[in-house]
Amino acid sequence: MKIVNSIEQLRKLLNRQVRQRQTVGFVPTMGFLHEGHLALVKKAREENEIVVMSIFVNPTQFGPGEDYATYPRNEQRDAALAAEAGVDIVFMPDKDEMYPRVGDIQIFPGKQAEVLCGASRSGHFDGVLKVILKLFNIVDPDRSYFGMKDAQQLAIIETFVEDFNFRTTIERVPTVREKDGLAKSSRNVRLSPKERSEAPVLYEALQLGKKQLEQGKEASVVEHEVAQLIENKTSGAIDYVALLAYPSLQPLTADSEEAILACAVNFEKARLIDNVIVKLKDELPCSE
Ligand code: AMP
Repeated sequence: MKIVNSIEQLRKLLNRQVRQRQTVGFVPTMGFLHEGHLALVKKAREENEIVVMSIFVNPTQFGPGEDYATYPRNEQRDAALAAEAGVDIVFMPDKDEMYPRVGDIQIFPGKQAEVLCGASRSGHFDGVLKVILKLFNIVDPDRSYFGMKDAQQLAIIETFVEDFNFRTTIERVPTVREKDGLAKSSRNVRLSPKERSEAPVLYEALQLGKKQLEQGKEASVVEHEVAQLIENKTSGAIDYVALLAYPSLQPLTADSEEAILACAVNFEKARLIDNVIVKLKDELPCSE
């Protein structure tokens, strides 16, 4: 496995002539790797000849007062895990390599970023789109892999790719969880032991909500009950519990086929997010 820190060096390695007809699968991350990230690599490894992972804690997607400085980092461990998982090239640029000057050009997502995390993390998805645009231009992947754990990010990136005709496809990978249901996240290490024992309630509550929706319970009642459960059984402060159409992230209508039931909860040193996707309409029966 090659570790590359400069854009120029990465471009040389991924030059069209060098790569010939081999496809490039790309896994962008902020590092402190866990099995969620490795599930993305596994899929990329199965579907491509070359697998590139980026590890970059992107400052532009953190707001003032958020955890950019304290975001967990461990480059050596990440490199070992990436190599073991079959990554061919790890791209680990530093901040100056990616942002050599304060850029004047901003990118703004549309309506999909007005809700959920976009509503409480002002500018977060502007920063995500900025780094993704740069990374897509640098790596020029055939397929790019994103986790459903960050379902809003995934939906916004899908729209970005469609709206601006990027060459890459976007591949969705299901959320990988701990045995007790907690979604794997680099931020989980920042939970206190007590918070860690409470955190599986997020997924429990979302699953309960999903069951209620499938049984026909009204959306606002479900949102309320999910929030109640999280509030009663954890010490975290709820940022949101919301049910929306997916991937449009607009309010549900009679035509919505899929919904997302999502939550964000602020614990003392870690903000946790999770979601479940709910099918609202059965698949059409085969026409035979
Ligand atoms: P991050 O390093 O947290 O920015 O995540 C990098 C990529 O890994 C994103 O596409 C995430 O959605 C994905 N990811 C993070 N956690 C998980 C998980 N538990 N299961 C699946 N994918 C994940």
